[in-house]
Amino acid sequence: MDGKDIKSMTIEELTELMAALKEKPFRAKQLYGWLHEHLAVSYDEMTNLPKTLREKLSVYPIRALTPVDVRISKIDGTRKYLFRLPDGNVIESVLMKYKHGNSVCISSQVGCRMGCRFCASAIGGLTRNLLASEMLDQIYRIQTLSGERVSNVVVMGTGEPLDNYENLLRFIKILTGEGGLHISQRNITVSTCGLVPRMRELAGEKLQITLALSLHAPNDEKRQELMPIAKKYSMEEILSACRDYFQETGRRITFEYSLVAGVNDSGEDAAQLAEKLKNINCHVNLIPVNPIKERSYRRSERLAVENFKIKLEKYGINVTIRREMGSDIDGACGQLRKSYMEKTESEK
Ligand code: SAH
Repeated sequence: MDGKDIKSMTIEELTELMAALKEKPFRAKQLYGWLHEHLAVSYDEMTNLPKTLREKLSVYPIRALTPVDVRISKIDGTRKYLFRLPDGNVIESVLMKYKHGNSVCISSQVGCRMGCRFCASAIGGLTRNLLASEMLDQIYRIQTLSGERVSNVVVMGTGEPLDNYENLLRFIKILTGEGGLHISQRNITVSTCGLVPRMRELAGEKLQITLALSLHAPNDEKRQELMPIAKKYSMEEILSACRDYFQETGRRITFEYSLVAGVNDSGEDAAQLAEKLKNINCHVNLIPVNPIKERSYRRSERLAVENFKIKLEKYGINVTIRREMGSDIDGACGQLRKSYMEKTESEK
């Protein structure tokens, strides 16, 4: 982490900083509250901190994101935000409203280096990791801008969160800890394409978060066609890491399965998948793939999706078809950011 990035500091680190600045320890708690509970964007707001302290802190910039575009779905109220980072890069985050509360989907990197064939975020490759503060601020800004309380967070936007492991853990610690938004770990989902060593490391952290695994195929051969990372880690290795994750944390795994017409959506695919998952305490989320214009992948027909679900259920597997949100506002993964970048590119 950048040593001056104050919003990425844990309460322990802020306490050390106060000591180094010859300030009383309780100032750390006040400052932490301003940043992570009141979601302050400047030291000027922190009226109960002495001016001398605020001046000392001015060399520690508060990294806040700038909204550049907001789109609100007329269908379901989903809001998509495009934010500019202090270095000019743009990222995308989404607020989804459900009966059980508001969920924010955040990005973990600028771009991504995993190269999944169907994914819009893979096309430009990885630009850089996001800092913990930049992950947090997606939630903070959305809560401030929308006036809605955020109760659930899914790390399912652009990027591979386990490829930005240290910052991810710091983010979770600050988001779920006392003195900040204090969101329950059980209300956080981290989605990965299956970086096995990192999944094992994460299991060892004994967090109560949900791990979502992007499977998208019933066997290695098909998975390798869709996801280059499948050449590095076999399904057997991944599923074994999933079993161990459950053993160590007691948290049921969610498998994400994007259905691509004629590629991974047949009855035989469903049967093979069910066979592989039968001994795992899990839940399967089916989502028809969102076609992107750079690729010829088509989404599965409604009937194929239904049949796939029924087949899995026959084998006793928990399945839901993920409801599509914000389909009228470039709702799908990384598409708003991509269309923004293409537009600004063509204006240059
Ligand atoms: N890198 C992480 C998280 C980001 S992607 C991961 O791979 O899980 C979040 C989810 O959206 C993943 O399951 C991903 O495979 C899926 N996804 C990406 N592009 C998609 C598309 N065009 N249609 C449907 N799902 C997509």
